[in-house]
Amino acid sequence: RVAVVGAGVSGLTATKCCLDEGLEPTCFEQSQDIGGVWRYTEHIEASRPSLYASVISNTSKEMSAFSDFPFPEDFPVFLPNAQLLDYLQRYAEHFSLREHIKLGTTVVSIRKHPDFATTGQWNVVTEAGGKQMSHVFDAVMVCSGNFSEPSLPLHSFPGIERFKGQYFHSRQYKHPDVFQGKRVLVVGMGNSGVDIAVEASRVAAKVTISTTRGSWLLSRVFEHGYPWDMVLNTRFMSLIKTNLPRPLPWWLMNYKLNQRFNHETYGLQPEKSCLVREPVLNDDLPSYILTGRITIKPGVKEFKDNSVVFHNYPEEEPIDIVVFCTGYNVSFPFLEESVIRVENKHASLYKYVFPTHLQKPTLAVLGLIKPLGGIMPVAEMQARWVSRVFKGLCQLPSQSVMEKEVNEQKKNQVRWFGLTFDEVLKTEWLVYLDTLASFIGAKPSVLGLLCTDPWLALTIFFGPCSPYQYRLGGPGRWEGARQAILTQWDRVLKPTRTRVPAASSSSF
Ligand code: NAP
Repeated sequence: RVAVVGAGVSGLTATKCCLDEGLEPTCFEQSQDIGGVWRYTEHIEASRPSLYASVISNTSKEMSAFSDFPFPEDFPVFLPNAQLLDYLQRYAEHFSLREHIKLGTTVVSIRKHPDFATTGQWNVVTEAGGKQMSHVFDAVMVCSGNFSEPSLPLHSFPGIERFKGQYFHSRQYKHPDVFQGKRVLVVGMGNSGVDIAVEASRVAAKVTISTTRGSWLLSRVFEHGYPWDMVLNTRFMSLIKTNLPRPLPWWLMNYKLNQRFNHETYGLQPEKSCLVREPVLNDDLPSYILTGRITIKPGVKEFKDNSVVFHNYPEEEPIDIVVFCTGYNVSFPFLEESVIRVENKHASLYKYVFPTHLQKPTLAVLGLIKPLGGIMPVAEMQARWVSRVFKGLCQLPSQSVMEKEVNEQKKNQVRWFGLTFDEVLKTEWLVYLDTLASFIGAKPSVLGLLCTDPWLALTIFFGPCSPYQYRLGGPGRWEGARQAILTQWDRVLKPTRTRVPAASSSSF
């Protein structure tokens, strides 16, 4: 019996993977429906993620799909939140997940059972309709997400207490009408910051983004108009990225990203260009900078009554509204610190999933990483691996080996990503997927396929690493995987080919 905490992307796929392995999942969802971060509500609900109305996925539908459930071909390539939720609802219906989900039920606490050392069991207390219930579970998958607790570090912004304008965290933002005719400051240039600034600039008098570190800007519409992740996340590209001597991949990346526009000229160039920070996905920002709708400024030095002063910038700027797009904290209020300790937004977890020090590997955390690619296939792969560990079909290494790897990883992450904000949670998408897939025997063998199915092998190697690749063989093999891979571009092109010029209609 497995307790799954949360019915968002990770919780849904965790429930499905438990069922695939013959385990008995019970998924507890505190809100009134499934979908997690993708279930948009007009009102902000306590300890739930909250989206703004216009959020569109940053990763394309083919690279975001669960590996045995492609998006419908008529869905757009990048998904408005309502369509992503629709997909999750279809997934839940298709795999009959709803009967395993208890809505309106909050997990209050998860504690080791007195016999934990021998059984690995957990006491789980839940609350529904004001009534608490205790349960015993053999294992737990924590899928509670990391967008519920806003990080609003006001102490980093001297003078904010005397600022007379309005300010709020991006979590509270829903629609741009609040910015009508106002002078707006957006603090933080992550994806929320840029999305909100772009929207605000259509109605505001003036919009400024303040960024301490700058960021690489990627366009959803990449080379030849293809989705960025279908071009960049290929086995061929990953081989280059991971095997070229260290400065070369970064140089290549800088070169590529500066081809569309020069990041330095636009004031966006990251402080340390060799450090990977989650790129911002936005198609509008460069043209909005060029047309004067948005101005980029350095970090905030201090707030005054009605204005803001920036570091290394002579003029202070009058401001009416500040939106702090300063991200989120990670926390597990229902768990004891002795089970998972979060330090500097980093939890010491083996492969970002298993606490290293438990006598029994019966608790796992899903979706707590920010890979540079779709999160849904990652959460699904984690769930496939975890359910096989719970079942005893996959073994974890010894505690010392896991701890060594986690410590090494922390050091490496510092070198690669810098120990700022939530950088330490990131990892290379394809390598991570392949690693977990190899644990369960689902990693595709390109060389093997070259002998038996060369066209498929070439598509897998040079084409996008779409998640269906991990269903070609091994446990959970899906009959439709080969076909899904060979038709992935059809599903991408279908929604855009809505007008056929008369001259080319014969080629359709
Ligand atoms: P975020 O990526 O964590 O960015 C927060 C930013 O706030 C930092 O990068 C930093 O920006 C600034 N900041 C943080 N702490 C600060 C401090 N103490 N002082 C000054 N500045 C500080 O947060 P987010 O943009 O809300 O995004 C959260 C996650 O949601 C990300 O993974 C993002 O990709 C995702 N997201 C996705 C979509 C989408 O799919 N369409 C939309 C929005 C968000 P500077 O370095 O620039 O100062």
